[in-house]
Amino acid sequence: QLHQIEKFRDLPAQTRDGVKVVLRANVGLVSDIDIARRNGAEGVGLYRTEFPYMIRPDFPSRDEQYQLYSRVVKEFNGLPVTIRTLDIGGDKALPYFKPPHEDNPFMGWRSVRVSLDNRDIFRTQIEAILMAACHGPVKMLFPMISGIEEIRACKAVVEEARQNLSSQGIAFQADVPLGMMVEVPAAVQLAERLAREVDFFALGTNDLIQYLLAADRNNALVNRYYDPLHPAVLQVLHNIASIAKRQNKGLCLCGEMANDPLNLLALIGMGIREFSMAAPFIPRMKMMLSRISSLEAEDVAKQVLEMTESSEIRASLTKLLKTTD
Ligand code: PEP
Ligand code: MG
Repeated sequence: QLHQIEKFRDLPAQTRDGVKVVLRANVGLVSDIDIARRNGAEGVGLYRTEFPYMIRPDFPSRDEQYQLYSRVVKEFNGLPVTIRTLDIGGDKALPYFKPPHEDNPFMGWRSVRVSLDNRDIFRTQIEAILMAACHGPVKMLFPMISGIEEIRACKAVVEEARQNLSSQGIAFQADVPLGMMVEVPAAVQLAERLAREVDFFALGTNDLIQYLLAADRNNALVNRYYDPLHPAVLQVLHNIASIAKRQNKGLCLCGEMANDPLNLLALIGMGIREFSMAAPFIPRMKMMLSRISSLEAEDVAKQVLEMTESSEIRASLTKLLKTTD
C-alpha cells in the first residue's frame, strides 16, 4: 500500500471527477520545510511559530524572527505561507516564560490572549512577519479568537507595527492578508460578523472539536467523546464553510481530522477545498481524494447533515467509501 501511496506524491490533488483541492503543509521547525516540499505541499497553510520559540533559551529578537520567517518564505519560492502568531499556553509552554499555575490551561491564559497582554512581544512578532512578507506571499493568522474586540485589537497592533516600521524606515509589506482561526465556539456563533473583519478563516478543528464537545483532545479517557463526526461538529463546519463562501473569504481547514478518509469525504461534500496538514499525509490524501467523486460527496454530506447520530453518519460515509474501492 505504501508503494501505491508513493505514486501520488507528484500527481495533482483532485477528486475522481477532477475537482481541484489545495493541500498545504503545517510546519513548525525549519526541518519541516524539506519534508513539506518533498511531499508536494502547495505552500504552508499553518506555520506554528511557537515551535521555534520553544527550542530556545529566551525570546527571539525581531531580526532573528525576521531571518527565520524569511527563510521559510523564500524556501517556498512564491507559494503562499500562512504565519500564525504565537499560540503558547494550553499544552505548549516556553521554558523562559512560565505562565502561573492554571486549573484549566486550555481554557486559560493561552494563545492570542497571552499576545494581547504582552503587546511588545506581539508587536515585535507582527513586525517580523510584515518584514518577511517582502520575500513572498505571506498571510498572517491570529489563533483562538473568540470575539470582535479581540480581532480588532489584533488589527490595531498590526497598524501599530506598520507605523513603527515606517517611522524606522524599515522595508515591509503593508497589505498582508489577515485571517483568524475559527476554533472557539463563540467565533462560530459570530462567524458572519467576524468574516467581515478578516480576509480568511482557518478552521482549527483540533481545538474546535474539543471546545464544542467539552472533550480534552489529549485525554484518552474521553477519547470517544472527541468525535469529528459528531452531528454538532459537522453542522458547525458546514456553517463556517457556507459563511466563508457567501462572503467570499478564503477557508483552509488545518486540523488533523482531514487525515481520515471518512472525515475527508464529508468535508469535500460540504465544499471545503483547502486543507493544511502534517506533510507526510499529503500523498495519502491525494490517493483518498482520487477515489472520491465530489458529486457523490455532496449528496452524502447533505444526507449526513440531517442525521442525529454519529454511528449513522459513520455508516453512510463508510458505505459510500466502500463502493469506491
Ligand atoms: C487546531 O486547533 O486545529 C490547530 C490547527 O491548531 P493547533 O493544533 O496548533 O492548536
Ligand atoms: Mg488550535
